[in-house]
Amino acid sequence: MADCIFCQIAAKEMAADLVYEDEQLMAFPDINPQAPVHLLIIPKRHIESLADIQVDHGGLLASILLTAKALAKKYDLTDGYRVVANTGNAGGQTVPHLHFHLLGGRDLGWPPG
Ligand code: 5GP
Ligand code: ZN
Repeated sequence: MADCIFCQIAAKEMAADLVYEDEQLMAFPDINPQAPVHLLIIPKRHIESLADIQVDHGGLLASILLTAKALAKKYDLTDGYRVVANTGNAGGQTVPHLHFHLLGGRDLGWPPG
């Protein structure tokens, strides 16, 4: 989608400091980090949110979670971390392209605000 910032990052029309990339996915630091490690993992294809996933996205979603696990190891988040996908307005989603936050490096607390 032309006006989607994460599609622009996926198309390399907008810069991001990639920490992971394969055919389906990209991961890069959040521009406004909420923890010492705050990465975003996105599918390159445009899916608006978790509310739009279908059964045939299963492989993609598994790849995202395995990438989160690998990045948590790479960034040495041995004490734990959080993977979260804000979904829709009340869920706090501000970019309407599916993305998973990987947060770690501090005590994150629960429940979130
Ligand atoms: P959401 O609020 O939708 O769960 O998460 C969107 C995230 O994208 C926010 O944490 C925000 O800081 C981040 N973000 C927004 N625009 C950009 C950008 O252009 N580059 C990067 N790296 N992160 C962005
Ligand atoms: Zn998009």
